Amino acid sequence: MGIIIKSDREIDIMRQAGRIVAIVLEILSKQAKPGIKTRELDVIAARELERLGGKPSFKGYRGFPAHLCVSVNDEIVHGIPGERVLNEGDIVSLDLGTVFMGFQGDAAVTVGVGSISPEARRLIETTEAALKAGIAAARSKARLGDVSAAIQDYAESRGYSVVREYTGHGIGREMHEEPQVPNVGTPGTGPVLKKGMALALEPMVNSGGWHTRIADDRWTVLTADGSLSAHFEHTIAITDDEAEVLTSLKEGVYA
Ligand code: MG
Repeated sequence: MGIIIKSDREIDIMRQAGRIVAIVLEILSKQAKPGIKTRELDVIAARELERLGGKPSFKGYRGFPAHLCVSVNDEIVHGIPGERVLNEGDIVSLDLGTVFMGFQGDAAVTVGVGSISPEARRLIETTEAALKAGIAAARSKARLGDVSAAIQDYAESRGYSVVREYTGHGIGREMHEEPQVPNVGTPGTGPVLKKGMALALEPMVNSGGWHTRIADDRWTVLTADGSLSAHFEHTIAITDDEAEVLTSLKEGVYA
């Protein structure tokens, strides 16, 4: 099928989908406090998506049972919300997708629960900065490998490892479109980026090794060595200049 180029009008709809995701993640981040059950975060996600007019992308996707992925500590991605209670010092990754007027928005954030260790704080900051490095590299005429390498180089320069088995992706009418966007790569390789491409960049960074395992629930992905993991994701659009982040809250637009 190849990489689908979106029109300005389609990107504008994706901007609205992205804004819904950003607003709900902002609300959820503030609710991720000691004592809350992960299932309660899913209830809030469902309610806020409905209030803002977004349909949940994840619920029912290949049988996923919830609106939100909640991944705690050594869980990397795809955690299923449930009876687990968040504790002071945990780090929790919240990953949310929505469909608005036929187009997808997808983003993730990792937050500390109460006060967290300096090591956990540094991992979170590094993962968010690795995503920013990838976004900065995602300019028109750059190659996809430039983006992957920027993410990898930043995270590894800080002493962490980058998950290989799960990647970012093209996004549009479908949550997962071409191309795959690995978080490791070689500059100067891969497809050339063009205006109208939309990508979800999503580094998953581990404090230990990059190997993963899957839990008995067949969804939750964990670090193989039990080390901490953080995950940040934005949906971006390639423009003629700097990439536009579609899933961030710009000043003054908070609902
Ligand atoms: Mg994604």
